[in-house]
Amino acid sequence: MIIIGLTGRNAGGKTTAGQTLVTKGFYYVSLSDVIRNEAKKRGLSDVRENLIALGNELRERHGTGALAELTVAEMDPDKNYVVDSVRHPAEVAALKKAGSFSLFHIFAPLEARFERSLARARDGDAKTLQDFIAQEQREFASSNAAAQQLLQTESLATRTIENSGTLEEFKARLDVVLRETQIAFSRPSWDEYFMNIAKQVAARGNCMKRQVAAVIVAEKRIISTGYNGTPRGVKNCNEGGCPRCNGFSESGKNLDECLCSHGEENAIVQASYHGIAIKDATLYTTYSPCLMCSKMIINAGIRRVVYNDAYPLNDTATRMLAEAKVDLVKLKLD
Ligand SMILES: [Zn+2]
Ligand SMILES: [Zn+2]
Repeated sequence: MIIIGLTGRNAGGKTTAGQTLVTKGFYYVSLSDVIRNEAKKRGLSDVRENLIALGNELRERHGTGALAELTVAEMDPDKNYVVDSVRHPAEVAALKKAGSFSLFHIFAPLEARFERSLARARDGDAKTLQDFIAQEQREFASSNAAAQQLLQTESLATRTIENSGTLEEFKARLDVVLRETQIAFSRPSWDEYFMNIAKQVAARGNCMKRQVAAVIVAEKRIISTGYNGTPRGVKNCNEGGCPRCNGFSESGKNLDECLCSHGEENAIVQASYHGIAIKDATLYTTYSPCLMCSKMIINAGIRRVVYNDAYPLNDTATRMLAEAKVDLVKLKLD
């Protein structure tokens, strides 16, 4: 889920930015809508001053991130959203937690904003520049932590987009920033993608000692997987199947008595079970391979091994893989 937050001063162009993003496939929601709904419930008019006071009250009563949290709770994780009227750092934090988040600060000079505010002529808007300035000052001048904190929120922006010229210029700028932002929302790399899958597979491991898994990939396709545990038809390690793992042997000791197959071993054997060639493939494993698995990896023709954590006793294996010209790459994912 991509979420773009919009922040900035009154009549700066946030709504226009929101509408433009809707034409790019984003769903529009506004934190002000939470407040507007509350105003409606209470029979209050939705003039600016009412909304600000009510927003401050809601933050005070339900926590400073409440408006954003309520909005996030309604979101569909398969969609991308533009969230208008972000006015508090806690709202930024709540949105960050919800998805790939960027905050756009829509900036326009005071005079331009006043002109637009006049043209928009919403109830309760200032009619003179002096009133407009005074209103803005009142909105900034709160020492209450639950009150909106527009200046601090603006300072958290990922990008500032200027809106001092024509609508066309603004939309063109928005377009450029959006394109750059979407590029920055990087999808996982192929290595990350396959390592994440290996970590999922590891959850099936039935060994008492630790859960390890491997995924074998050729031409960006998974051709085999394996997790560690006792061989097919033998009681699972975690059900007492392997006396060595269920005893109290030190890690790395009495390995010759261990009934458990390793994740890499099982992935290689699984490929042979189905008659699939793994020559020139890449093996993703949640732990760096032991000496025995490294020998199998070399002789199976695997060219590259990507591992998440380093197995403690693998110096010899590492040296041997290097000598056999198998690339060994560490990729630690959280
Ligand atoms: Zn075991
Ligand atoms: Zn092994």
